[in-house]
Amino acid sequence: MPGTGPKDFLCITCGKRTKPDRRRFIAGPAYANYRKHFKVFSCKDNDVTCIKCYSQFYRKSKCQANRYEDNQEESENQLSESEDVYEPPAKKQQKTTSIKSPKIIQLPITLAGKSHSSCCVCKDRKSKFQTLSTENRHKAFLSTGHLLLSGARCCPTHIDSDGSLNEQAILHFKSLSSSSTTFFNKTELLALITDIRSIALKNENLRIDFDNKNTLKDSDFLNLTGITKENFEDLISHVKSIRQTKNRSIRTCIALFLVRLRTGMSYRMLSTLFNIGKTGIRRAIATARKELSINFTPKYLGFQHISRQDIKDNHTRPLAKELFGNEIENPVILVADGTYIYIQKSNNFKFQRRSYSLHKNRPLVKPMIIVSTTGYIVSVLGPYHADYKNNDANIIKHNFKLNMEQMTDWITEGDILILDRGFRDAVDFLEEMGVHSKMPSFLKKGQKQHTVEEANSSRLITKIRWVVESVNGRLKLWRYLANVVPNTQIPHIGDDIKLVAAICNKYKPPLNSGNQEDQLLAAKMKMLASKGNALYERVAEEKLDRRIAAWKNMDSENVVKGFPTLSEEELTNITVGVYQLKLARSYTCEHLDEDGDYIIMLNDEIQDILRVKIQSRHTSSKLYLLWIEYGPAVIKGWYCQCKAGARVVGACAHVSSVLWYLGYARYADSVRNVKNWSMYLEDAFNVPEEIEDSDSEASCPEE
Ligand SMILES: [Zn+2]
Ligand SMILES: [Zn+2]
Ligand SMILES: [Zn+2]
Repeated sequence: MPGTGPKDFLCITCGKRTKPDRRRFIAGPAYANYRKHFKVFSCKDNDVTCIKCYSQFYRKSKCQANRYEDNQEESENQLSESEDVYEPPAKKQQKTTSIKSPKIIQLPITLAGKSHSSCCVCKDRKSKFQTLSTENRHKAFLSTGHLLLSGARCCPTHIDSDGSLNEQAILHFKSLSSSSTTFFNKTELLALITDIRSIALKNENLRIDFDNKNTLKDSDFLNLTGITKENFEDLISHVKSIRQTKNRSIRTCIALFLVRLRTGMSYRMLSTLFNIGKTGIRRAIATARKELSINFTPKYLGFQHISRQDIKDNHTRPLAKELFGNEIENPVILVADGTYIYIQKSNNFKFQRRSYSLHKNRPLVKPMIIVSTTGYIVSVLGPYHADYKNNDANIIKHNFKLNMEQMTDWITEGDILILDRGFRDAVDFLEEMGVHSKMPSFLKKGQKQHTVEEANSSRLITKIRWVVESVNGRLKLWRYLANVVPNTQIPHIGDDIKLVAAICNKYKPPLNSGNQEDQLLAAKMKMLASKGNALYERVAEEKLDRRIAAWKNMDSENVVKGFPTLSEEELTNITVGVYQLKLARSYTCEHLDEDGDYIIMLNDEIQDILRVKIQSRHTSSKLYLLWIEYGPAVIKGWYCQCKAGARVVGACAHVSSVLWYLGYARYADSVRNVKNWSMYLEDAFNVPEEIEDSDSEASCPEE
């Protein structure tokens, strides 16, 4: 009960009883000013003041300090006579700080830099001084425990190029004894705490922190995890069974795994960035992988996660429907291809043989990806070994035979699979299953070039098949899948690539959903595919590939006359694809390069046809001839000797490049070059002339 204790705590000033949380003991040195103010000259250990009287004193002393600034120094000095005074003498410094509260808090901190006329480090008075910035003073305080006062100066020799004190100066402060104490007032302490807090916060931001929603920008999220902040929140909402540990939160756990996949960073790097030990990182990744594989991936990937109707209605490009589908059967059109995940060389020789791809000349594993024509990933199966027994044809057969993900129930008779030539041994098998496969035609023995029909229909297929390459490229944006995966991780490659695929399905837009022009394009492609190549026949009849003398190289005197100007749109129309146009730039740069073999030839007798000799992209010794027929405003036809050069549905890369150069780039103001990186490399063949003897100039390569 109150009042039964040894003493009621009565305020020494007003005499009222004080509650325990509303009283202060005034015996200590910190209350010297208070005692002085109320003229309490003797006091016992138990003497207290109430808060009301104390704040009365506090307000008064504050007012005084403000009103009588001139007296302040004096009174301060008087008040703390016995202690170390760090304020400079009144004469030299009148207005450094206006003291707002009494200096009553004693702390074992040493101050330096009182004097502005001497160096705070070496006390030298002669040389020119530099004033330290607030930031650098606090830096020094953090590392040495010596507080440098505002306006502290030192010789330029103690300062590093970034304005902070150099190592020697820091060592000097560290060597000083720090036994002395200083009295601070509330304002000073508050300022110091605020400054130190801001430094602490700044350092906090240097670490990657996924727990605080505001420390990372949206672009940081995208760079580090491959998905936006919003996506990340959504992903987290799928997590059901991960528990928070003392080392990391659920968010950090998932983020760690995503960062690992997106950046391909090693455990050691992650450990540094997240400030979590390597074992902790490994455990977190295993936990996150397990969790997402159970609660996220199956919802957004696999034959059973989506209906046939959904694929037909929402994930099929109109162009594909027009080219390969038909109204009555309305089949599902899918594109399948094997992809590669590189792994390390194994010391287990049997495994090394089975995982070695002769095609790529390195060890790898092969997941099979099956996508819709818009690039929506229906399923990722495998991964498989990489030896000859595991070619694409055998893999797809295996997928069907094992009825993975109950795919044979999902895929029904009449569905179409668009494939590349690697699947040709599976065509009969698929046909037996009722699945029609479409693949670009392949050259028969002794055949040098595809017929016009073959080349045309191949183009229809590659136009649709292309999307699977884009999906592959998108998956490889998660660097972990593009890098060499450590062999200890082989058991998890399947889960990892499936998760990335599920993330793409859930959070990324379709790669190509087609547009209104798809139907027009389809009609045009179908129409072209039914036509022959007239120029091809003319070349054969008139033997335009012979008669070398009649064809003159184009140069400043021999210019192409009347070649039509083509807009980028017209070009894309002719080539039926952007890919060819991209290649066109490379070819053309080679042409513009002195060494490039890209010779445009004209024939006086044939005004409307030009002939071009071009170097193959793949083998530098292989040369092709191509012909382009043109009228005043129109390109009438083309034919190239390369494998796919006879087609009229689009043009091969060679024809595209010549059209691009003559019809567009010649007139465009600035054509962005494909960089020739050779200029950054040394060439042992290229020896400066000075070293050469003057009589050996014949053997010296021309600059
Ligand atoms: Zn009182
Ligand atoms: Zn100095
Ligand atoms: Zn060609």
